[in-house]
Amino acid sequence: RQWCHELPKVELHAHLNGSIRDSTLLELVKNHGDNGVLISKDVEQMILEKGTSLRKCFELFAVYHVLASDHETVKRITKEAVEDFAADNCIYLELRTTPKKNEAKGMTKRSYMDAVIDGLKAVDTVDVDLCGCELTNKKNGDWRRKKIFVRLLLSINRSEATSAAIETVNLAMEMKDMGVVGIDLSGDPTVGQWDTVLPALEHARKLGLPVTLHCGEVRNSKEIQAMLDFNPQRLGHVCLLAEEDWERLKSLMIPVEICLTSNIMTQTIPLIEYHHFADLYKSKHPLSLCTDDTGLFSTTLSNEYYKAAVTFGLGKEEMFKLAQEAVDFVFANEDVKKHLAQNYEEAKARIL
Ligand code: 5GP
Repeated sequence: RQWCHELPKVELHAHLNGSIRDSTLLELVKNHGDNGVLISKDVEQMILEKGTSLRKCFELFAVYHVLASDHETVKRITKEAVEDFAADNCIYLELRTTPKKNEAKGMTKRSYMDAVIDGLKAVDTVDVDLCGCELTNKKNGDWRRKKIFVRLLLSINRSEATSAAIETVNLAMEMKDMGVVGIDLSGDPTVGQWDTVLPALEHARKLGLPVTLHCGEVRNSKEIQAMLDFNPQRLGHVCLLAEEDWERLKSLMIPVEICLTSNIMTQTIPLIEYHHFADLYKSKHPLSLCTDDTGLFSTTLSNEYYKAAVTFGLGKEEMFKLAQEAVDFVFANEDVKKHLAQNYEEAKARIL
């Protein structure tokens, strides 16, 4: 477990609002009080039962979005999420979030993202590299201080209208020089139509923005096939694929973001021993271990590596290679990849 903690790690699938600390959540509930929208006791009960089914997750996300609906809170949860990943020895974090409008709080999708950037600037336990420049000053000129590369993905929620999804893609383009490197499609998989979001995803492709899609969280063959036809840069989850779609995924070699704890807790996969990680790993399919929602599922990236090691019998060299290979799938540029590759070379001598 300690070794998995020391291993430098790359996180490619982490949702901002799913990564809120329990302590922060409870504080936000307390400050929010009973105001007719949320009842503290009910929310506390929901937090206790968090992450135990896909339905409960999305009920809880609706609550999170009420609690974290102002700029200050968005800034705070961003700062805390980055500090938590850095404390877990994550050296590259691709943090994804759905830009939200909230007229009552004077929030636009752009001002929501500005609050996220403010959160990155407020990080003080680690140096943050965003879009090639360091946001935080080296404390007392200490060049040995830990550093984390952070890049952002803007999520389109599946329930959004086409125009709202296109607005998110345009915002991503506008913020390309501010650390935004791609687009994610997420949200409740039982809601929304592929055809509604496809124009926005095609728009992203035309603009040269890489795309990752949540795929196969529920059985929906038609949609899974459409996603494979789209052939995105990466796919998340890929749990419930029919045999022929599975074979197609493998032949397309689309890198997969694997979220072990998330898939088990939401009961998308009944037992970790049956997880499709084993098949993909054996077939040398490109993949990367990820947390999905550290807060919601009470996990860390080290814990995901530890679970993979004990469940599938991987040794230190195999784990190291798994972490190192994730560098190939990051959406950041070649310069960042070179830095990360160098980090792994240095770490090899230290921990292998
Ligand atoms: P946010 O984008 O608000 O920062 O992070 C929370 C959002 O991410 C949720 O409302 C949901 O749209 C998306 N999300 C988080 N975890 C999952 C997941 O496991 N599956 C899917 N489909 N979406 C998720």
